[in-house]
Amino acid sequence: MTTAGQATITIIGGGPSGALMTILLARRGISVNLIERRADLRNHSARAGRSINLALAARGLHALKLAGLEAEIQSLLIPMSGRMLHDLEGKTQFASYGQRTHEAIYSVSRTALTQLLLNHASNYAHVNISFETACSDVDFSRRTLTLTQRDASISKCNYEYLIGADGYHSNVRKCLLQSTNTVVSDDLLPHGYKELTIPPNMHDQHQMHANALHIWPRGGFMLIALPNLDGSFTVTLFLPFESYDSTIPSFATLHSASDVKKFFSHYFPDAMAVMPDIETEFFSHPTGKMHTICSPIWTDNRTTVLIGDAAHAMVPFHGQGMNCAFEDCIELDHLLQTQPFTAASMEFERLRKPNANAITQMALENYIEMRDTVRQSKFQLQKELSFELERRFPNQFIPRYSMVMFHHNIPYAVAYERGKIQAQILDELTSNVPKLEKVDIELATQRIHALLPSLTQSV
Ligand SMILES: Cc1cc2nc3c(=O)[nH]c(=O)nc-3n(C[C@H](O)[C@H](O)[C@H](O)COP(=O)(O)OP(=O)(O)OC[C@H]3O[C@@H](n4cnc5c(N)ncnc54)[C@H](O)[C@@H]3O)c2cc1C
Repeated sequence: MTTAGQATITIIGGGPSGALMTILLARRGISVNLIERRADLRNHSARAGRSINLALAARGLHALKLAGLEAEIQSLLIPMSGRMLHDLEGKTQFASYGQRTHEAIYSVSRTALTQLLLNHASNYAHVNISFETACSDVDFSRRTLTLTQRDASISKCNYEYLIGADGYHSNVRKCLLQSTNTVVSDDLLPHGYKELTIPPNMHDQHQMHANALHIWPRGGFMLIALPNLDGSFTVTLFLPFESYDSTIPSFATLHSASDVKKFFSHYFPDAMAVMPDIETEFFSHPTGKMHTICSPIWTDNRTTVLIGDAAHAMVPFHGQGMNCAFEDCIELDHLLQTQPFTAASMEFERLRKPNANAITQMALENYIEMRDTVRQSKFQLQKELSFELERRFPNQFIPRYSMVMFHHNIPYAVAYERGKIQAQILDELTSNVPKLEKVDIELATQRIHALLPSLTQSV
């Protein structure tokens, strides 16, 4: 009954989700035809300035474990157990993400991770990977793909079942929407990002604490840095494209090397001190855009389904885009084990869309937290209180960040809804309360028992 047994599945896009999906299917004996527009990443270096490293969290790690990659991924990871906040004078303050020793997120090189996935995918005799081949059109009624090679030659090929894993710019999504006259809304964030580098010191070691995600929160904008295995940090500046307020700088106001130097030495002096190539990098690296998009349809209800950023792209502030894409892969693979492709893809859309919508929203909210509220004493008090309530009520009150990042078995939509209730409880308990010892724990107990049913999953 499953697709699966005999049919070949064609996957467009050999990024993280397409490569992981290939492995999951291939492990079950399914033949996969993987088509990737770019050259084989295992022989080419990634372009400078484009999301060099990523934060991997429980959901992504769980998916890699199910794909049999748990042991191999370990050597690529740097644990980050909390945020290191940098103030204007360069003073730092560490705030842990969770309160249990295993509650960390992990910095991983995007290239190394994708290489690992492609290596594994290509080990299966029944997986065929075509690089430098772009899917330029899909004819859903004839089940035909138009493929464009690097030399611009065009060919057609048939598919039996199709998975669109071709990222935010997905052509499969575009064709799917065109074929049904459906319009998608694409929200461009008015802020862009620029990737820069803090190199290793002369002993090839990190120049800042390696086991933290560094943040320089500045209200309307911020700088962050994630560690790399070679001792460097990838630094990302998030800044408005245009100034909407005279007190907030923007990319549009940074015209010259001296503008950049002035800007960094004023707002990020300690980071600037360890960034020798800042002016060159600033002007040679691209300024990236960030979008929120959730495709209104993920399947043609027959032979095609979208996963990962092709189905739902989000801003990067919760570090969940790829984690969510990996969760898609295991969910779709799970459904395909018991249902025909058509039924599985419809069920996949039904189950995943609410979760994609929830994490998309939480990713937007997290930008405000990272660049702004994280500096406020109220935020810190509420965080301490969250940990205290989690200790007292571990099956009922789990901080929202922890639900998203450390609990792969709590769906995003549940984390989002419970997070709203928890935020109200925290607001009530901390209004006019200066410190944790003064919080009314009896009131907290009442509210939690009344409003937060026990989570049935093992948490
Ligand atoms: C600055 C930044 C930071 C981020 N940080 C994090 C983070 O910390 N944690 C996290 O979980 N996520 C993060 N993300 C999000 C993450 O990068 C994406 O969610 C993830 O890459 C999605 O994987 P994907 O395979 O669905 O799509 P992609 O990574 O976009 O891969 C799509 C693949 O399809 C190929 N392709 C595209 N079009 C075609 C075509 N027509 N034919 C054939 N092949 C095609 C592309 O070449 C590519 O290889 C970040 C994103 C950005 C921009």
